This record gives sequence, C-alpha cells and structure tokens, in this order.
Amino acid sequence: STISNCPPTKNALGTNSWSLLHSMAAWYPERPTPSEQTMMQQFFTSLARFYPCTWCAQDFQQSIQEKPIQTASREDLCIWLCEQHNIVNKKLGKPIFKCDIKGLDERWRKSSDPKCQP
Ligand code: FAD
Repeated sequence: STISNCPPTKNALGTNSWSLLHSMAAWYPERPTPSEQTMMQQFFTSLARFYPCTWCAQDFQQSIQEKPIQTASREDLCIWLCEQHNIVNKKLGKPIFKCDIKGLDERWRKSSDPKCQP
C-alpha cells in the first residue's frame, strides 16, 4: 500500500482531498433536492473553514466568495469544483485542467482507459 503511518504532507493531503472532492461531485445527484443542495453548500463552507492548511483554507474561503458554489445539478457542481481547483493550480504554477463534463467524468467517474479497470 502507498499509505504510510506518518501525518500527511500538504501535498499528500491536497491530492487525497481533491480525489474525495471530485469523486463526490462526480456522483452528486443529477437532480438534487433542496436539502441535498443545502448540505453540499454546508460541506464546502465547513471544508473552507477547517481545511488543515491555514493559508490554503483562507484563500479557498476567498475563492468561494468570489465564485459561489453551484449545487443545482451534478454538472454544475463538477464544473464549479474544477474551476476552483484551477484557481489553486494557477496559484501553484500547475497545469490547468479543461473543465468540461465529459473530460471530468472520464477522469473522476468512469474511464474508458483499460488501465483504469479495477
Ligand atoms: P493535485 O492538484 O492534487 O491534482 C490531483 C489530480 O487532479 C491531477 O493529477 C489531475 O488529474 C486532477 N486535476 C487537476 N486539476 C483539476 C481540475 N481543475 N479539475 C479536476 N481535476 C483536476 N497547496 C498549496 O501549496 N497552497 C494552497 O493554497 C493550496 N490550497 C488548496 C486548497 C484546497 C481546497 C485543496 C483541496 C488543496 C490545496 N492545495 C494547496 C494542495 C494542492 O492543490 C495540490 O493538491 C498539491 O500541490 C499536490 O498537487 P498534485 O500535483 O498532486 O495535483
């Protein structure tokens, strides 16, 4: 296994967090109820308050204020999260990901690459 018994570094925490977040968006309902939308908004508000890297969390709170979370549909949430991740990518000089639902689903929901078959 690649899991070590040491506390995660900032980068390991980041990669693992993005895996959870993009996967949650990829499997969010196509037509969420009002209550599901509220819960997802609260989830990201809490994440931006408690993400365990203080300056990352502060910047993320700022970014969410500038581009409010979109929870009306699965596609809206996936694209919003992709754009938020790109804001961090730009800040760190990492490659920008193309935010279309087809590419996002290929990366985070169901891949056509045989190497990705479980
Ligand atoms: P990651 O950025 O972790 O990406 C993992 C994989 O996601 C990539 O290999 C790619 O396949 C895919 N991907 C990349 N971009 C997108 C996208 N836009 N949409 C969908 N999929 C994509 N680190 C800091 O040093 N400073 C910060 O301020 C900071 N803020 C962060 C805020 C949040 C909310 C999170 C979750 C993480 C933050 N990080 C921050 C960590 C940082 O984003 C990276 O996770 C870390 O630098 C490791 O990068 P990586 O190269 O493994 O790729």
